[in-house]
Amino acid sequence: MHVVVMGAGIVGLATAWQLNRAGFDVSVIDRMAPGAGASGGNGSQLSYSYVQPLADPSIWRQLPALLWSRASPLKLRPQLDPLQWRWALAFMAACNAATSRQTTHRLLELAEESRRAFDAMQADIDPDCDYSETGKLVLYGTTASLEGARRQLELQRTMGSVQRLVDADECVAIEPALAAYRAKISGAVHTPGECAADCLKLCTALAQALTARGVKFMLGTELVGFDVRDGRVAALRTRSGELEADAFVMALGTASHRFGAALGAYLPVYPLKGYSITVEVDPAPGAAPTVNVTDSPRKVVFARIGSRLRVAGMAELVGHDARIPAARIDTLVAATREVFPEAGRFDDVHPWTGMRPATPTGHPIIGRVARAPANMLFNTGHGALGFTLAFGSAAWVTRALQDSVR
Ligand SMILES: Cc1cc2nc3c(=O)[nH]c(=O)nc-3n(C[C@H](O)[C@H](O)[C@H](O)COP(=O)(O)OP(=O)(O)OC[C@H]3O[C@@H](n4cnc5c(N)ncnc54)[C@H](O)[C@@H]3O)c2cc1C
Repeated sequence: MHVVVMGAGIVGLATAWQLNRAGFDVSVIDRMAPGAGASGGNGSQLSYSYVQPLADPSIWRQLPALLWSRASPLKLRPQLDPLQWRWALAFMAACNAATSRQTTHRLLELAEESRRAFDAMQADIDPDCDYSETGKLVLYGTTASLEGARRQLELQRTMGSVQRLVDADECVAIEPALAAYRAKISGAVHTPGECAADCLKLCTALAQALTARGVKFMLGTELVGFDVRDGRVAALRTRSGELEADAFVMALGTASHRFGAALGAYLPVYPLKGYSITVEVDPAPGAAPTVNVTDSPRKVVFARIGSRLRVAGMAELVGHDARIPAARIDTLVAATREVFPEAGRFDDVHPWTGMRPATPTGHPIIGRVARAPANMLFNTGHGALGFTLAFGSAAWVTRALQDSVR
């Protein structure tokens, strides 16, 4: 059975890997190179235990500061786009304790499967992707925010997460590069099993390994529409011609809403823009971190990938605007200088922006969708956790496809 995966981001490539292993004849199309969308410069964190969705009741309290402070990591620029308004209203509706708890529970299950599937992929293709398993510290600056973290930790403990609260001294013992920042730390959540890797390197390695196994990659091929006959997608229409297959998986990131709509399906996927910088680190012990760190007051994440430090943050609802304002990069540089002043040279950082394909609740859309043709499956809307969840959601969509042909 021939399956075409649309999108060669981490989600599409993980899907192609799972489908190939399951014995399907797989092709992948993308208008760009593997990992050239949201996956390329992301925060690099495989955050299996730290999946709390952005849609959280605390957002209501933080909203004025988040929206109107110039330094706020969250930004809303209203667009003449009904999807933005519909998405924002659904997001605010999801900012309640019950929905956040339910989403956390579902994401933890998916993350657990993703960890197992990522390990299986590593054993299978042994990619060169600067993988590390050094754990994660999420830092809090006030006792009130630490108390909120304690409640989330207790909730996640009942769901099987292995995490604990640590004080500032323990933070520095776990990650000596935090010594200069110690006075600003009230405490942290430590999760020893968290991992990191370079998502772009992994995308490249997956494409190479899959090509060697007979998966056909059609890069530089832009999807423009569908040929639907008798309630089934017969072929994709691309700028380079038509492409027929028995089934299709849509993993188009933030383009999924538009192409879902072309098939009559509503996919609440909206771009949540973020930024990253990559810094070559000083190799001296204790200069740059080896443990993943999230500085929660600033909502900035730090991950070590080989000889580089990836620093990522911000969440902006500004449509598909791909510009990189210097002020946003300056904010990331300033955060890195403050948290890890000895980490490396800050005069030569590599700036990047990407669009998280976000759903209002934070849970991705996996499998069949109402009103879409039966042979079109979806794997999209992974928001801030696409790298973490890609291999588990790929397993889910593969099972859905196997079930549909039984
Ligand atoms: C700043 C930032 C930091 C992040 N940090 C982390 C992190 O630390 N951990 C984590 O788990 N996640 C993180 N994420 C989220 C993660 O990067 C995304 O969820 C993930 O990359 C989404 O992957 P995807 O394959 O769905 O989308 P993409 O990588 O965007 O892939 C979609 C693909 O579809 C292709 N496409 C679109 N339209 C067409 C068309 N018409 N024709 C052909 N091809 C098309 C695009 O070219 C693209 O390659 C972060 C994201 C950002 C922006």
